[in-house]
Amino acid sequence: MRESLAGLYQEMIIDHAHNPRNFGELTGANRTVHVVNPLCGDQLTLYLNLTDGAVADIAFLGSGCAISQASSSLMTAAVKGLPHGEALTLFGRVHSMLTTETVDEAALVEVGKLAVLSGVWEYPARVKCATLAWQALRNALEDGDRRGEKE
Ligand code: ZN
Repeated sequence: MRESLAGLYQEMIIDHAHNPRNFGELTGANRTVHVVNPLCGDQLTLYLNLTDGAVADIAFLGSGCAISQASSSLMTAAVKGLPHGEALTLFGRVHSMLTTETVDEAALVEVGKLAVLSGVWEYPARVKCATLAWQALRNALEDGDRRGEKE
C-alpha cells in the first residue's frame, strides 16, 4: 500500500514538474515575490493578483528541480480563488506537513492533493525545495497585509 502510494505521489510530482499549472508572468499582478533556495539552486518569481481580499489570480515563473517546480504548480492551483485567510491557513497546514516529522492522516485529507508533497520527508535535503513556493505565497500575502494597514 505504502509503495503504491509513493508511486502515485511520484507520478503527480513528475506530471506537475513537466506540465506546470499557472506557469508564466501574470499581467495585472499587484504582488510579486522572488525567492531562491541556495541549497538546490531553485528560483521562483510568484505573481499574485489580490482583489477584494481574495487570490483573484496567481502565476509563477521559475527554474529548478522537479520538486520545486511541482510544488509551485500545485500551490498555485490550490490557492487560486481562495480568500486571503484561507490561503494563509493552507500555507500553515502544508508548511507543518512538510516540516513536522509526524503527519497525521486527517491533516493529509485536509490538504487534499497537496499531500503528494509530504513524500519529500524521505529526502530531508529536498524539504526546502518543496517549501519555497509556500514561503513565497506567505510573503506575498503578508505584504498585502502591511500595505492594507498603511492605507
Ligand atoms: Zn530543489
